[in-house]
Amino acid sequence: MESELHIEGKTINAVQTRRFKLPLSEPMADAKHGTHTYFELITVQVTCSDGSTGTGYTYTGGVGGHAIKAVIDNDLESFLIGKNAQDIRALYEDMLWRLHYVGRGGISTFAVSAVDIALWDIKCKTENIPLWKAAGGYSKYCNCYCGGIDLNLPTRRLLQNIDGYLDRGAQAVKIKVGQPNLQDDIARVKAVREHIGNDISFMVDANYSMTVEQAVDASRAFETFDIRWFEEPTIPDDYFAYHEIAKKTSIPLAMGENLHTQHEFDLALAIASLSYIQPDASNCGGITGWLDVADKAKLYNIPVCSHGMQELHVSLVASQACEGWLEIHSFPIEQYTLQPVVIENGKAVAPDNPGIGVSFDWEKLEEDSEI
Ligand SMILES: [Mg+2]
Repeated sequence: MESELHIEGKTINAVQTRRFKLPLSEPMADAKHGTHTYFELITVQVTCSDGSTGTGYTYTGGVGGHAIKAVIDNDLESFLIGKNAQDIRALYEDMLWRLHYVGRGGISTFAVSAVDIALWDIKCKTENIPLWKAAGGYSKYCNCYCGGIDLNLPTRRLLQNIDGYLDRGAQAVKIKVGQPNLQDDIARVKAVREHIGNDISFMVDANYSMTVEQAVDASRAFETFDIRWFEEPTIPDDYFAYHEIAKKTSIPLAMGENLHTQHEFDLALAIASLSYIQPDASNCGGITGWLDVADKAKLYNIPVCSHGMQELHVSLVASQACEGWLEIHSFPIEQYTLQPVVIENGKAVAPDNPGIGVSFDWEKLEEDSEI
């Protein structure tokens, strides 16, 4: 009887979404998406009949935010009302199947992700535990690196950016590559390695701008600079191309931010010869989806890392025993939260408060948003 009453108390009775268009402090460019001047944040607040609430969110590079919000408003809200917020796995599966026919992956998984994260927020608050414990509990500390969207920056400014990362306490950095002329990429990679010395981990990211041949040439040229991983050298859908690049080169490969369904992750893990997998909870099914990828990655002995949303992913990456790497992304969502990521002794620290550890500063969001 008591448990029935408990479940009754977590009946969903409201789902509220908001979209924010937030400016970047300076233009940021990569090899495939061109120049970003703003990003979108889509938030969802789920309220239960007992008054408890959870907040979830997703983000985009500037395209698709209206559609994601519309999917939640038109196709998920009415489905969720009256359901038990504690049935996270069942709701996750049902939401995905509800949207599968019109859009498996892509916008639909962004929408499901935001809702799933809100449900986890309710779960963690109900159980009075922080996310890093609820998600696995291995540790509250994890490896981290700062990732720049910096292909537009001249070398002097690029190195200033890197100094900012190191000043923050990061002991690993990532830059963009993928310029039309490989020699220009090599010059930047060389300049950064010389600038940071040998003790800082260094990754590069081509945002799938290269052919297999170009990626092989680039990888061989970068080998001498001790690169931890080469991220998205070519299009993420072509798992066989990744395998081909891995066979011919020595730099470990990483990807995952563009994989949105569990089947895509299954194929990538089975075929692509990856050394790191980088699911993003904002677009692969939320915390439920991210943890499913983490379980799959264990079978391949591949560390599960993250992409974007560091203020949330810090708890997920830290929770897993594989000791993956948290990306501290250049979209500053964390600046709109009450707890930006803290780095101590080179490790990112997951928050200890009950819930997902992300509380938005709504006033700041409203102030800065260009709706
Ligand atoms: Mg990337």
